[in-house]
Amino acid sequence: MIHGFINDRANCWLNTLIQVLLSCKKIMNWALKIHSCAGDKLVSLLSNELILLREKNSYSPGFIEYMMFIDKDSRTKSVEEAFDHFVNGAKIEQLFRMRYKCEFVCKCGYKSETYDNMNILRIPLGETFDYLLNHKTSIDFICSCGNNIVERNDSLVELNDICVLCCNKTNLNFPNELKLKRDGTPIIYRLVASVEHVNGHYYACCRREEVWYLMNDENIIKLREFVNTANTYLLIYENCEV
Ligand SMILES: [Zn+2]
Repeated sequence: MIHGFINDRANCWLNTLIQVLLSCKKIMNWALKIHSCAGDKLVSLLSNELILLREKNSYSPGFIEYMMFIDKDSRTKSVEEAFDHFVNGAKIEQLFRMRYKCEFVCKCGYKSETYDNMNILRIPLGETFDYLLNHKTSIDFICSCGNNIVERNDSLVELNDICVLCCNKTNLNFPNELKLKRDGTPIIYRLVASVEHVNGHYYACCRREEVWYLMNDENIIKLREFVNTANTYLLIYENCEV
């Protein structure tokens, strides 16, 4: 059942996050699989709530209490913070985790590498998606040979089932499908949802089955297609291979 959620406590951020989570097949499969057998109280609360929210349009007190705890002093919260809070509580980082290899290379032959894990990939202003896959920069770093400029190569080396991009309002055209490689195998990721952010207000555009909807608190409007805007803030892609 497709339905909206009431915004009675400045909770557009939560309504938006929930619509996005309900649109991801891999997350709903996780919730259906775990909700009756989760040993962890919090994992059980979060997975159960997602199952129930497919049919009901109000949140359980325990769920609201957990989600509100992100930052008690701030009235408005970001979808990004809420997303991390949910993912951590539900222990589903493995669905999202992306890994970057960062390699430092000096012309003397010195090389070192580090790895970074993240749940959301941030596209810097003015950059394209290709930048995220691989980019080179020169950085100030004093090598033992005395050279103080070394090359830094960043490359995306691990992807999981869901790929979340934070696009900083770059107003780029994002495709409905991304062709990426996972463990060397090409995989198609399909866009399932976007989060729009306008004057402090959040709403989502989500694909349910094959239909796009604009989901703005209680209001649900059927869309002809997905078009990203200058206010598109997050894009959620899902591995569509079963
Ligand atoms: Zn050197």
